[in-house]
Amino acid sequence: MNRHLPLAAAILASAIGIGAAWSQSAYDMRALAALSDAELMKLPAKKVFSSFALPTTGMKSRPIGFYAKGCQSGAVALPVDGPAWQVIRLSRNRNWGQPQLVTLLERLATEAQASDGWNGLLVGDMSMPRGGPMPSGHASHQIGLDADIWFTPMPDHRMTVKEREDIKPVVLAPTRHGVDKSVWSEAVARLLKRAASYPEVERIFVNPPIKAALCKWATGDRSWLAKVRPYYNHNYHFHIRLACPPGAPNCRPQAPVHTKDGTGCGEELAYWMGNAPWKRIEHPPPAPKPTKPVKPPAPLTLASLPAECRAVVTAE
Ligand SMILES: [Zn+2]
Repeated sequence: MNRHLPLAAAILASAIGIGAAWSQSAYDMRALAALSDAELMKLPAKKVFSSFALPTTGMKSRPIGFYAKGCQSGAVALPVDGPAWQVIRLSRNRNWGQPQLVTLLERLATEAQASDGWNGLLVGDMSMPRGGPMPSGHASHQIGLDADIWFTPMPDHRMTVKEREDIKPVVLAPTRHGVDKSVWSEAVARLLKRAASYPEVERIFVNPPIKAALCKWATGDRSWLAKVRPYYNHNYHFHIRLACPPGAPNCRPQAPVHTKDGTGCGEELAYWMGNAPWKRIEHPPPAPKPTKPVKPPAPLTLASLPAECRAVVTAE
């Protein structure tokens, strides 16, 4: 008889929604380790991964799986304060990533501050300590290679924990038709160009009018613009995505960026500035009358993540 069984049972009970609140403690890890493979695989992945306050300690740093379906081992934290950045929303504990991501953010922050007229980075969500699907906010950010940076420049003072929770972002693209001219600046354009110019960075997501403004602004070598991808929901922050680093055999790469014109400023941007991609969001078709009660989709379980994520969950 395993002495952790009552707790393991509580975790299972919580996972299938019959009481017992999900608790956060190191003890949970032992409880998880005590579960059989079959039991573990049935747990909702976002509940399991959001219960970890710390990364794995004995495993090599690795992104595992895909940006929107995976986990990470050996993550490191971006320090909440640096010479050219501050992490916000500390209560979320999402300032974790692969060492390559942390190094990249520190470099971008210091170089943009030194050369682009950008005061410093406000860093929002990266990944949870062991990655995995988040209980709120993102489909990706699961393998320690994604980070959200606000378009709000860093304030001149070191913010309190409360300020970091309460701060409201400035919105660079308040509508899908254009940027707010009072927020747009040369400095933000230079910051985005710099971020897109690092070879490790594979994609940067921004709302379409921000890409349009960059296409208008850029002169000389414009090839970096191809990496700047127009997408929904990036009007107050941009999203940096690193390519799978070398020596990460279980990292599943995304198809390389391909644009017809080498920048994506032509046809592709025209599509995103048109109505077509937004129709579904702005005018969703009326839901058909259900003939029988609709079951909500089942949450992603551990079984649907790469097998290596099981070790990440049970590791110390
Ligand atoms: Zn993001």
